Amino acid sequence: MGLQTHGFNFRKSSAMTPTTTPVATGASPSGSASAAFPNFSPGKRIFNFSAGPAALPEEVLRQAQQDIWNIFDSGIGIMEHSHRGPVFDRVIEEAKADCRAIANISDDYEVLFLQGGATTQFAMIPMNFLSPETTADYPDTGVWTTKAIKEAKLFGNVNVAFDGSKVGYTYVPSDDEITQTPGAVYMHYCSNNTIYGTQYNQPPASNSPLICDASSDIFSRPIDINRHAMIYAGAQKNLGPSGVVLVIMRKDLIEKGRTGLASMFSYANHAKNDSRLNTPPAFGIYMMGQVFKWILRQGGLAVLEKRNAEKAKLIYDAIDESGGFYKGVARPDCRSHMNVTFRTGNDELDKKFISEAAKHDMDGLKGHRNAGGMRASIYNAFPLEGCRVLAEFMRDFAKANG
Ligand code: PMP
Repeated sequence: MGLQTHGFNFRKSSAMTPTTTPVATGASPSGSASAAFPNFSPGKRIFNFSAGPAALPEEVLRQAQQDIWNIFDSGIGIMEHSHRGPVFDRVIEEAKADCRAIANISDDYEVLFLQGGATTQFAMIPMNFLSPETTADYPDTGVWTTKAIKEAKLFGNVNVAFDGSKVGYTYVPSDDEITQTPGAVYMHYCSNNTIYGTQYNQPPASNSPLICDASSDIFSRPIDINRHAMIYAGAQKNLGPSGVVLVIMRKDLIEKGRTGLASMFSYANHAKNDSRLNTPPAFGIYMMGQVFKWILRQGGLAVLEKRNAEKAKLIYDAIDESGGFYKGVARPDCRSHMNVTFRTGNDELDKKFISEAAKHDMDGLKGHRNAGGMRASIYNAFPLEGCRVLAEFMRDFAKANG
């Protein structure tokens, strides 16, 4: 089948000059395979289809190896620098500038790096902008919007502007399927539904400020920032390690936020303090910054969009050409280019698929418990070759088990 792992050799760079402790030289913790790591194989990487935390660009991981030891020749690693010192000033300023360059973000918007994952945003948004006297619109397109709705209800009125549960979350609504509330304070939607594998082709039309949870497709394609009042994304799919959240928010929305909130829950406070109200997730911000540089080196969002479409097509073709052996979960016009969901219709066969794929160095293909079946998450950093290998495996598996 031509299956192969893609090599990833940890190597010591000249910028790394460890004196005593061996750092990431490709050795296992004890220098060789140990009882704790019986299968440890120096340098080996496999195809990681995890939905998140997910594969990161190898170039970024290599750079991080160096910078954990010694960043900018400062003699100190990135995780050990003061968040108020000149080295971290440079890291965060570059991250913001590169983020702005990637998505053409104007000065009307703040770029913030916050904590607590996207889930904290589910609460912070209504905490700042919703009240018992007002209503926000939430098209419900899957588990993550359902969770966002639950949090919003703690603070004010929610209009479920589209109820995807009635259609098993197999598609996202067109504009005329969304019932907007006149005078809504905002509309919140999720651009890519990680669990069901559905994705909006474009942002929904909205009469109120539009807020997007882009956790699982941020910067996977060009994005019209100006159609949004706010875009946020937990980092662990397309941007970096979990915990840190990118928030892009129009300044006039920030100013409308409720006053008198506990300081960590006020966007205005975070903006005033340049994302350093307290000790920020410094390593996460550094990693996001490195991923931003990687995106720019790739040629930007249009290049990534094309590459992601090509990657997804390889797998969708294997589904569509299987003569019904594989069934796609998402309606074809809403298919995600980030999370490809499918099943055989037979739970035992799905299990066999996942375990045999694992033997071919493909990990993370088990679907979310709510959707079942299989899910191939193929974010920006996931290699085209991995999609090719999976598609080939799918064809072989269907032939052997159909
Ligand atoms: N929104 C979406 C679309 C997600 O996929 C996830 C996580 N998988 C979340 C929100 C929640 O993110 P976190 O775990 O960072 O809170």
